Amino acid sequence: MNSGVLQTPIDFLKGVGPNRADLLKKELGIHTFQDLINLFPNRYLDRTRYYKIAEIQRNSAEIQVIGKIINIKTIAQQKGKRLVATFTDDTGTMELVWFRGHKWIRENLKVNVPYVVFGKANWFQDHFSMPHPEMELLEEHEKNLRSAMQPVYPSTEKLTNRGITNRVLNKLMQQLFTEVKNTFNETLPDSLLNQLKLLSKNEALFNIHFPQNSSLLARAQYRLKFEELFYIQLQLIRKNIIHKSKIKGYRFEQVGDYFNSFFSRHLPFELTSAQKRVIREIRNDMGSSAQMNRLLQGDVGSGKTIVAFMSMLIALDNDFQACLMAPTEILSVQHYNSISEYCNKLNISVSILTGSTSTSNRKEIHENLENGSLQLLIGTHALLEDKVNFKNLGLAIIDEQHRFGVAQRSKLWHKNKQPPHILVMTATPIPRTLAMSVYGDLDISIIDELPPGRKQVKTVHRFDANRLKVFRFLKDEIAKGRQVYIVYPLIQESEALDYKDLMDGYESVVRDFPRPDYQVSIVHGQMKSADKEMEMDRFIRGETQIMVATTVIEVGVDVPNASVMVIESAERFGLSQLHQLRGRVGRGAEQSYCILMTGHKLTEDARTRLQTMVRTNDGFEIAETDLKLRGPGDIMGTQQSGVLNLRIADIVKDGEILKIARSSAIQLLRDDPSLTKKENLAVKRTYTELVKYRNIWNYIS
Ligand code: ADP
Ligand code: MG
Repeated sequence: MNSGVLQTPIDFLKGVGPNRADLLKKELGIHTFQDLINLFPNRYLDRTRYYKIAEIQRNSAEIQVIGKIINIKTIAQQKGKRLVATFTDDTGTMELVWFRGHKWIRENLKVNVPYVVFGKANWFQDHFSMPHPEMELLEEHEKNLRSAMQPVYPSTEKLTNRGITNRVLNKLMQQLFTEVKNTFNETLPDSLLNQLKLLSKNEALFNIHFPQNSSLLARAQYRLKFEELFYIQLQLIRKNIIHKSKIKGYRFEQVGDYFNSFFSRHLPFELTSAQKRVIREIRNDMGSSAQMNRLLQGDVGSGKTIVAFMSMLIALDNDFQACLMAPTEILSVQHYNSISEYCNKLNISVSILTGSTSTSNRKEIHENLENGSLQLLIGTHALLEDKVNFKNLGLAIIDEQHRFGVAQRSKLWHKNKQPPHILVMTATPIPRTLAMSVYGDLDISIIDELPPGRKQVKTVHRFDANRLKVFRFLKDEIAKGRQVYIVYPLIQESEALDYKDLMDGYESVVRDFPRPDYQVSIVHGQMKSADKEMEMDRFIRGETQIMVATTVIEVGVDVPNASVMVIESAERFGLSQLHQLRGRVGRGAEQSYCILMTGHKLTEDARTRLQTMVRTNDGFEIAETDLKLRGPGDIMGTQQSGVLNLRIADIVKDGEILKIARSSAIQLLRDDPSLTKKENLAVKRTYTELVKYRNIWNYIS
């Protein structure tokens, strides 16, 4: 079938008038024949199964029942009337209810004749009632073949209310297949069909809408999921290839004195092999003539800072400037502290720019950036201000990507005549499947190894009732010279209450850990930033042993001597947040502990989160669980939901298919980058159409 017919407006399908066409467009985005064919069922119903009225369960899905109407009446209600029919079989009675279309229904309903009714039964005032059921005389019903897999299509309340029921959608689909004769263009190349033993497009579309048996249905689903993911990946990877060929990057040909002398003389520790591999990947990118666009993932404590620093040295070695942007002031200061120490040894000029940089300092920084005497700049989003202009920015590094938006990423791009190389670092491990979809156009480096000698943080779950025991444990640790964090949740919706909990908690800690033996710090968002910093400093210097805080300490704080993290009301935190918090300890040589405190009442999800934390320290495993619990939209935010807004595939469940789809797409493009080979004609055509009708690029950049 040529694709022209599939682009026919849906209005032209028999059974679809202007009203229905309008509804289909507005409610389901169906404008053409093609759109309707791509409306895939959510699930399949068994229409060979009949329920007895006595068997109906509360909250059951749609069911069908055979019985007779014994009485019909109209009942007045607050607004208008409702029509109620009493329906019985040999096991009980239920009600059929209509709120609209009374006259027509009443005239057509037959009393004491066997019917098959189909719909969702609600429990209402001590009996079951089925609103707006589909009705069919048993005699008629028996003439039709029933399938154990009747498609249930996505729908909306408005559609059902206006008469476009699932039955109608099934009929429209039948009509459509009759008209287009089930001859669809194949969209995948033979090589893939053979290699993966995929159903043809024709068989797949037919079986997804009219499953012939369960194995064909499964194969149809597989083929269509594969196709959907394959074309998304194809677009993302092509975008990456095109980007590389179009956007010229500065070519950093040499690794010079800065890098080499740091590497041979000043490296504070042996790099892990993962760090070395990632530095090599970055070096290769910046040495090619394409602009680097790389995401660096590495769990908390995996040692991203040194990788960032050594990458910046390569830029400096080629007479370019570099910058590093972090989401908070605390984090910027920490980066600045560790990096400026290295810089001193190498005679590199470095400054920090944040919201609290004084005006005179700021002016000096601006000047030195423009005349090139300042080589390295570290700071917060203050770096993005219009007044900040570089002489020649060669590399921009962004720490903690998703606290900044994509828009901000691109703002950095335009700080130069030519875009600098970009390295985005994130400590939040993103499940591979999600990364492939959302960042599929970026190159990804992963530090999957912690520096040697790190002890795994021991994690336990304790109930509030055991607080005394926990406090005793804290005292033992403090006696050994360690420090302790106690973190409270702070959520905007319940802010006032949360602050009260924090202050109550603080007071009870001060009571149990009295001066002069113990010193307790407190840090939270309502404090002035000078006070906050002073308290942080006291803790960092070891003058206080306990830090009571809200999640402000989640990002970045590095106090190697702190070895215990107590998280209060741990059931209220998300998994990735718990993992981030735990990452604050285990930074020194000592055995560290994370204690998750909760009340006794826990939801199923909360229990899973706590068990996951106790079971593993692996950020990627935690991220996978998080993805299963929360779904991709919640993890990435709505920004990227376009890429995740899939018709049939499911990022969480179809990870395996996604991997195959991605590697197939990579292989195909490697072999035929511009899709000109004869055997890839189908791919080229489908790809072109996709870009035209459903351009994924619009979703991401
Ligand atoms: P993150 O990836 O969380 O930003 P950092 O870069 O802050 O991690 O590193 C965490 C700690 O580990 C720092 O104290 C750093 O000096 C140290 N570190 C980093 N790499 C190594 C290594 N290869 N060997 C030993 N210690 C390392
Ligand atoms: Mg870091």
